[in-house]
Amino acid sequence: MHLIDKEKTISPQVTSKLLRVLIVEDSHSDAGLLIRALKKGGFDLQCETVDTSEQMQQALSALEWDIILSDYNLPLFSGLKALQVMHSLDLDLPFIIISGAIGEETAVEAMRAGAHDYIMKDNLIRLIPAIERELKEAGARRLLREGEETRSRLEKELQQAKHYAELANQRKSRVLAFVAHEFKNPLKAIQTFTEILEKGYEKGRIAEDQLEMVQGISTASQHIRELMNDILDIAPIEAGKISINRQVIHLQTLLDEVRIIVEESAKQKKIQIKWEKQSALDLINIDPKRLRQILINLLSNAIKYTNPSDTIFLKIFRSEDNAWLQLNVEDHGPGIPEEELENLFLDYYRVQNIFSQQNEGLGLGLALVRKLVELHQGTISVDSQVGEGTTFSVCFPMNVIVETEIQKECS
Ligand code: ADP
Repeated sequence: MHLIDKEKTISPQVTSKLLRVLIVEDSHSDAGLLIRALKKGGFDLQCETVDTSEQMQQALSALEWDIILSDYNLPLFSGLKALQVMHSLDLDLPFIIISGAIGEETAVEAMRAGAHDYIMKDNLIRLIPAIERELKEAGARRLLREGEETRSRLEKELQQAKHYAELANQRKSRVLAFVAHEFKNPLKAIQTFTEILEKGYEKGRIAEDQLEMVQGISTASQHIRELMNDILDIAPIEAGKISINRQVIHLQTLLDEVRIIVEESAKQKKIQIKWEKQSALDLINIDPKRLRQILINLLSNAIKYTNPSDTIFLKIFRSEDNAWLQLNVEDHGPGIPEEELENLFLDYYRVQNIFSQQNEGLGLGLALVRKLVELHQGTISVDSQVGEGTTFSVCFPMNVIVETEIQKECS
């Protein structure tokens, strides 16, 4: 291996630029011709010539190069082998064959093997434009590679961050579920004793003003119980430990049960609930406990977040194409700002406004509803206008919740 030129020479015609060129060539005079052509083309050169595989490997490992100019046939080496050496080192440098005589087939073979261009030794006129083009293309390839590397590094970091966040979330859910579970028995005791006092069992009736206080304890403990139930419900779903238990049920019977549960709190705010169900809809294959939870959560929210004396609608109908069973819970309450809608179904997410301050909650209700709907292969969406109201729509796929057997029974 001989170092031909390490000095910088400035061409008078063009602004010079450094070119680090590795020349694969056994002939001193041919290498000299190339160097002269490059200098004439305006390059400052840092170049080295090699004529064996070992020399080339050594040069490529020792220094960084911009381009390789390689003869095609050498006594101990060849252009194709030089290409192999470059690829074996995982390098993607512009590679131009400079050959005395090269047939069309040989040229095609060289290009297939990864050469970027080939130029005749006796006609170097194309050399400079070809080098400039290849340098530009190599720069673009490098940028692309770097972009791809950055993207895949960021993707890995994101995956890792997600993984840690998930672990932290699972840990948090386990701790909360444990606390909620530990609350259950003392809470049950509080509720039993308040009931005894309210109803006057065992120790007789208490005074009217004392009764009011006891009723206060009862309402507060019922509220804590509901919060604890949400925490206990969401933890196993997050841990993937919940499965749904489908049964064929009469939808109307389930709606009647839900009505009894929610109408009490609606009455307290003088809210009317209108139940509208397409009459042909009745037998469905669903987990009744979970559907009850879905409806109670959505209706309770509508009651909580709507104005007194309003009307809430529960509409149940088949979609026009008959593919979905849709349940809409509509209210004319304060509505939800648009920028909040995308986060609404996240765990522990509460909209920060006066209405959520007035109504205590953990921000788990809608997250729980979404998870329960998805367990039934359904979807949930929300449509809301501030000052006009909110509609939550749950859709269950008809082919899952109404099986052929039920359809036969219905016909
Ligand atoms: P929580 O009621 O415990 O805060 P949810 O997950 O049920 O939790 O609801 C999340 C937030 O969505 C609530 O804090 C409330 O601001 C908003 N929200 C839910 N339902 C309605 C509704 N029908 N109208 C207006 N805001 C609602």
